[in-house]
Amino acid sequence: MSVLVYLESWEGKFKKNTWEAATYAAKTASMLGTEAIGLCIGKLDEDASEAGNYGLSKVLKLEGDAFNQFDANVYGAAIAEVAAAQSANTVIVSATFNGKALAPALSIQADAALLSNVVALPENASPFSVKRGVFSGKGFNILTSDAAKRIVLFVPNSIAPEATGGSASVEGTSAGQGSISPVAVKEVDRVKGKIPLPEAERVISGGRGLKGPENWGMIEELAEVLDAGTACSKPVSDMDWRPHSEHVGQTGIAIKPNLYVAVGISGAIQHLAGVSASKTIVVINKDPEAPFFKAADYGVVGDAFEVVPKLTEEIKKF
Ligand code: FAD
Repeated sequence: MSVLVYLESWEGKFKKNTWEAATYAAKTASMLGTEAIGLCIGKLDEDASEAGNYGLSKVLKLEGDAFNQFDANVYGAAIAEVAAAQSANTVIVSATFNGKALAPALSIQADAALLSNVVALPENASPFSVKRGVFSGKGFNILTSDAAKRIVLFVPNSIAPEATGGSASVEGTSAGQGSISPVAVKEVDRVKGKIPLPEAERVISGGRGLKGPENWGMIEELAEVLDAGTACSKPVSDMDWRPHSEHVGQTGIAIKPNLYVAVGISGAIQHLAGVSASKTIVVINKDPEAPFFKAADYGVVGDAFEVVPKLTEEIKKF
């Protein structure tokens, strides 16, 4: 029995959290007394043997026209086939946009239990148990699974990647080549040149307090000087002031950046559910009673239209 980890890439490059997933798989394998194998799917421009540096013994590459574009059903069927060929009873997937779509499809294809929202390395090998976030991150539970096969969908930024100095062999695999999709996938809503929100180490986020989409220039300028991504509250994306890909919170993306700056956002519980795990939270709000201040490390009570441009100017001096 081995542990298989899906090494996610985008446009030929590994994603920021790929080595975190590799580390997760290597540590899980070591706990289970087995080896960890990586699987790359689609066109890859980077050297996959780098995965050895994070504890994987072998990396399999699955290439072909069917894999040029992400499709949860196609990738799920392919991973299930590779897992069976490698006798892997544990498959690790990061809960990225694509990972969240992929894991349920994979769980059906592989007839495996899905352990979702996992926020730490396994607690125990036998019975296999993991720590999960529940109630929008307000609590945790320990889930024990006695299923013969399982998919572990773990939340990015839950552990740090750990370089081991090892090396991995890289080989092609034909398992999974038969997977084709009956659905044509069309990709929309990807802004080129911007830092993808789940990968951003710093995030500047705006809420309804900014009054309208025409005022987002100051948010983008602050984001630019801080090399940060931009996000927003739900009503802002509902009103089409910003794209839905920027919506964070319970019904949006959950992020864990090192710095989260909330501008003109009240701090409703549904918003906090997606951002409260950020390392440092800075709140700028003109209402001193805004609930967000309770979750903030630093707060500025003031008008965003005065505070944000001044902050940007000061940061530019450094
Ligand atoms: P508001 O609540 O209107 O707050 C605006 C803030 O801006 C206020 O605090 C105000 O003091 C401040 N402000 C106004 N003018 C200025 C100024 N000039 N300078 C500085 N500050 C100013 N919300 C999410 O964000 N994400 C979710 O995923 C989400 N999921 C939800 C799921 C459910 C089932 C439900 C019921 C709600 C969900 N919501 C979510 C909505 C959530 O409850 C709040 O309504 C929403 O987060 C409020 O957005 P806001 O803070 O931008 O707007």
